[in-house]
Amino acid sequence: AAERSIRAARLESLGHLAGGVAHDFNNLLAIILNYADFLADEVTGDAAADLSRIRDAAGRARSLTGQLLLFAKQEPTQVDVVDLNEVVTGSGELLARTIGAGIRLVCRPRQAAVPVRANRGRLDQILLNLVINARDAMPGGGVVMVETDCCDIRDEPAVPLPPGRYARLIVSDTGTGMTAEVRDRLFEPFFTTKPADRGTGLGLSTVYGVVGDAGGHISVESVLGTGTTFRILLPYAAGAPESCRPDPEPCARPGG
Ligand code: ADP
Repeated sequence: AAERSIRAARLESLGHLAGGVAHDFNNLLAIILNYADFLADEVTGDAAADLSRIRDAAGRARSLTGQLLLFAKQEPTQVDVVDLNEVVTGSGELLARTIGAGIRLVCRPRQAAVPVRANRGRLDQILLNLVINARDAMPGGGVVMVETDCCDIRDEPAVPLPPGRYARLIVSDTGTGMTAEVRDRLFEPFFTTKPADRGTGLGLSTVYGVVGDAGGHISVESVLGTGTTFRILLPYAAGAPESCRPDPEPCARPGG
């Protein structure tokens, strides 16, 4: 518990720092992009090609500051009752395009509906981050499986959450797996094993923060050479108990 609160405090101060910097950069980038847009109407030839590189780079920088802002949780968020199954099916197209050919995406909603109280955009982001990581861990192809269901906390004895009913999101891959060293540092902000133009090291720290804020828990199991499984538990949104029945028709969606 002590380690958890030290980590939480460290994440929070890093979040404030990153959020402040990201906010200022975002404003500056908006100015750069605006003036670059004005210029685009005026220049031709080689200068236009150079300008288009400037706009591309500024656009990439803006998406990075967007990620930083999300990590720092400076964006106000609306909390709704959201069905995890809808998060999965709603992102299906984007996820399939993200993983590309050679990787199969299998979605298994194991209950008719899996309601949680959370921000929809953040849930989308969590799923996307986990699936991008799964993809990056399977350069030679493989299968990424996304499962949703409900459980009682007694089904997850290792998870330090209060008693009760939880929604569960499981994302597993048949990728490279990771070493114990990587597993220990996985949720640290800016920790990445990827080249600088691919990884920011903010994906999983963002997931960790969002899940924690929603009163949930994330855990990981990984076997080198075999694959990795992320399990997320989020408090089940009361008021829709009838929806936690098994769904006889799980969906399967081929990737690419
Ligand atoms: P990034 O993806 O930008 O590197 P993350 O915080 O999402 O940042 O991930 C941190 C690191 O955790 C990755 O660089 C990778 O080494 C490791 N990792 C995350 N997910 C997986 C996975 N599914 N399989 C293997 N390694 C993973």
